[in-house]
Amino acid sequence: MKTVHHWIGGKTVEGASGNWGPVTDPATGAVTTQVALASTEEVDAAVAVAKAAYATWGTSSLSQRTGILFRYRALLDAHRDDLAALITAEHGKVHSDALGEVARGLEIVELACGITTQLKGELSTQVSNRVDVSSIRQSLGVVAGITPFNFPAMVPMWMFPLAVACGNTFVLKPSEKDPSAANLLAELASEAGLPDGVLNVVHGDRVAVEALLAHPDIAAVSFVGSTPIARHIHTTASANHKRVQALGGAKNHMLVLPDADLDAAADAAVSAAYGSAGERCMAISAVVAVGAIGDELVDKIRERAEKIVIGPGNDPASEMGPLITKAHRDKVASYVTGAAAQGAEVVLDGTGHTVEGFEDGHWIGLSLLDKVSTDSDAYRDEIFGPVLVVLRAETYEEGIALINASPFGNGTAIFTRDGGAARRFQLEVEAGMVGVNVPIPVPVGYHSFGGWKDSLFGDHHIYGNDGVHFYTRGKVVTTRWPDPSETPAGVDLGFPRNH
Ligand code: NAD
Repeated sequence: MKTVHHWIGGKTVEGASGNWGPVTDPATGAVTTQVALASTEEVDAAVAVAKAAYATWGTSSLSQRTGILFRYRALLDAHRDDLAALITAEHGKVHSDALGEVARGLEIVELACGITTQLKGELSTQVSNRVDVSSIRQSLGVVAGITPFNFPAMVPMWMFPLAVACGNTFVLKPSEKDPSAANLLAELASEAGLPDGVLNVVHGDRVAVEALLAHPDIAAVSFVGSTPIARHIHTTASANHKRVQALGGAKNHMLVLPDADLDAAADAAVSAAYGSAGERCMAISAVVAVGAIGDELVDKIRERAEKIVIGPGNDPASEMGPLITKAHRDKVASYVTGAAAQGAEVVLDGTGHTVEGFEDGHWIGLSLLDKVSTDSDAYRDEIFGPVLVVLRAETYEEGIALINASPFGNGTAIFTRDGGAARRFQLEVEAGMVGVNVPIPVPVGYHSFGGWKDSLFGDHHIYGNDGVHFYTRGKVVTTRWPDPSETPAGVDLGFPRNH
C-alpha cells in the first residue's frame, strides 16, 4: 500500500496525527493508498513554514519568480503523462481527459510566467502642481487553497501559480480522495527552483480545513468544491477577516433553439454531459429543448450515448471511466431509479452497468431522462454523474426563465444559428460563463473563471485578472517633490484640493 504524506518546506513530512484516509482505484474498487490526514497542529506547523518563507519570497524580484515559473512550465510539460497517470489511478477519468486537465492547468502556469505585465502599476503625473499618483499591487502573505476531487491537478493549478507569482506563499489542502497529483506538482515546483516553504501541501479532511480557516496567519482562502461547503468556507473565512473566493457546485443548462444544427447540438450534449462521467462542475447536466425539436434531439443524444465505451481510464479504448466512490455511484443511481416516479421518461438507464474483469469498480452507465419536471430531484440537485436530463420549453422566453430560476449560475450554453438570439441570451442569462455553440465554456487562462449565484461566494472569479487582483491588494501613493526654488506653501487646515 502506497502512503501519501505532506509536502512542507520543500520536503516530504510524514503524517503524525495517526489519522489516515483511504484512496481507492475507482476502476477496481481496491484501496491502493493511504493519505495522511493532518491535525490542527500539523496545519499550524505548515502555515509557520509558509510564513517564514514569505519573509524573503514576498520581496523576491519579478525576474526571479518568472525564471522559476518558466522552468516549472517546462518540467510540467515533460511530466504531463505522469500527472495524468496519477489522476487516472485515483480519480478514474480516462487518460486523454486527464491530459486535458493538465493542459488547462498549464495555461495558468503560462499566465503566471507573464506576471510582469499583470503586476504593472499605474502612474498619473502632474495630477496637481508637482504631484504624481501611482497605484501598485502588493502580495497578501500566506494564502490557502482547498480543492475538490474532480480536478486534482487543474484546480490547484488555478490557484498557486498565480498566488506565488504575485509574491505570496501557499498552503494547499487537496481533496483526500485523490491526493497524489498535488504532491507531484509541488515536487516539480521545488525542482524548478521554488524556494522551500513557498508552496506547501497539507493533506487532510475537514479538521485541516477548519484549522486553515481559523489560522490568523492565513490572509486569503481560495476554495473550489460543492455549494454547501463553499458557503461554509465563505462565511467562516469572512468572519475570520480573510479574503475569500469560494466556487461551488452547478447545474449547467444547454438551451437548444429550433434552428440549431441538431447533430452538432447532440454531439456537444453527449460530450459535455458524459465526459469525465459527468464529474465536472462545467458538465452540461440539463438540456432545454425549445419548440418542436425535443423528440428528434433526444433520439440523436440517445444514439450517440449508446455508443460510448465505458472502462478503466488507463485503457485507451475507454471513453468514460468509473465514478469516484461506491457511495457516490449509488447516490447517482438513486436519481435514475427515482426519476420515473417523479414523472420523467427514462430513455437510457445506466444503473447496474458493470465492466468485465473489473466487477468491483464504481461503474455506472449513461442515463438520459426526458420530460423532466423542474421540481424533481433529478433536476433540482447537482447529480455529478453521467445523468443528462432534458426539459421542454415552448419558447426562448420560457427556456431562459427556466434557466434563470435555477439557484446555480456556473456555466450555460446556447445552440442556435441565430446571432440575434445568441446575443440576447448572453446578455439575459444569469450565469458567469456562457457558451455560444460551445458546450463547456471554461475560459482561457487570461480570462477569469467563475459562476454566479450559488456557484460562487465572494467577489472575485478565479485566475485571469480577477486572480491577480484576488492575490494582491492595492496601494495608491501620492507624491510631491517640491522644486528647491519654491517657498513652502505654509499651513493650510482646509481639505487638500487639486489645483
Ligand atoms: P467537496 O465540497 O466535498 O470537497 C471540496 C474540499 O472541501 C475538499 O478538499 C474536502 O476535503 C473539503 N471538505 C469536504 N467537506 C468538508 C467539510 N464538511 N468541512 C470542511 N471542508 C470540507 O467537493 P468534492 O466532492 O471534492 O468536489 C465536487 C464538487 O466541487 C461539485 O459540487 C462540483 O461542482 C464542485 N466543483 C466546482 C468547481 C467550480 O469551479 N465552480 C470546479 C470543480 C468542482
